[in-house]
Amino acid sequence: MRGITRTVGVALAIVFAAACGGASTPAASQPAASAKASAPKFELSTYQYAIQTKGKLRIGSQEDNPPFSVKNPATGKWEGFDADFGRELAKAIFGTQDDIDKFIEWVPVVSATRIPSLTDNKADVIIKTFTITEERKTQIDFSDVYFVTGQRILVKKSNDTIKEAADLGAKTVCAQRGSTSEQNITKANPAAKVLLLDSYPACLLALQQGQADAVSTDETILFGLVKVDPNTKIVGKPFSDEPYGIGVKKNQNGDRQGFVPFVNTWLAGMIQDGTWGKLYEKHITPVSGDKKTSPKG
Ligand code: GLU
Repeated sequence: MRGITRTVGVALAIVFAAACGGASTPAASQPAASAKASAPKFELSTYQYAIQTKGKLRIGSQEDNPPFSVKNPATGKWEGFDADFGRELAKAIFGTQDDIDKFIEWVPVVSATRIPSLTDNKADVIIKTFTITEERKTQIDFSDVYFVTGQRILVKKSNDTIKEAADLGAKTVCAQRGSTSEQNITKANPAAKVLLLDSYPACLLALQQGQADAVSTDETILFGLVKVDPNTKIVGKPFSDEPYGIGVKKNQNGDRQGFVPFVNTWLAGMIQDGTWGKLYEKHITPVSGDKKTSPKG
């Protein structure tokens, strides 16, 4: 099934890039201004200081997870709510720069590789529709909540038999491997058959081709899929709470000193100064139709 994920990634990525806010101008070719010019000063013992000194923030995100993160195949640029959120975090570490992407290393992940990317020290942060759960908190740390959604069901527009989770018995429901969506389907209806793939666009293809009767994940991700395929619809009430956090490796022997508190202070500032609301309006409003100024509404 990995083949499906890859094929979809290439074939539909342009459409998803459009759903994530349209094409962007290519990165400027001039070298960035000095990283230090407007960079904040940090305590030497902190991880934010270590990142600043290293000169790159490694952001783990998914290449095909609209409207949160999409690597635009035409420009190579990452787009979407999570991608821009990561850029704002990079600005908090490196200061305002002509091209903040020069200070970011994008690390592609899927749901199942989010935790290993942190514990294997391949990424500094995971910003990828990452639900904060007690189980995950035993392995990694999370920031405060930066986005709230809940799980729903996507079916073909012509489907009149699946209206809620209770109707999923003996139906094939697609979700991403290693996600809370996978667990929630089984909790909501133990008789459902779960098809696990490595992206939601791959699940959409499975639905279109009849390998799945439904796709089930966070409502906001499903909004992105409906935008791509108007022959689908979202049904039923949300049947889970999905509060997203930024994932960070646990602090061991001071190797992530002060980092989560720093991220939380930055996050509160983003909400307070209206940046969060602007990002919502840019990336989420076009698919959800609503407006919000904070994760709470
Ligand atoms: N938010 C859920 C999770 O963290 C589902 C979305 C995803 O797989 O990224 O597992």
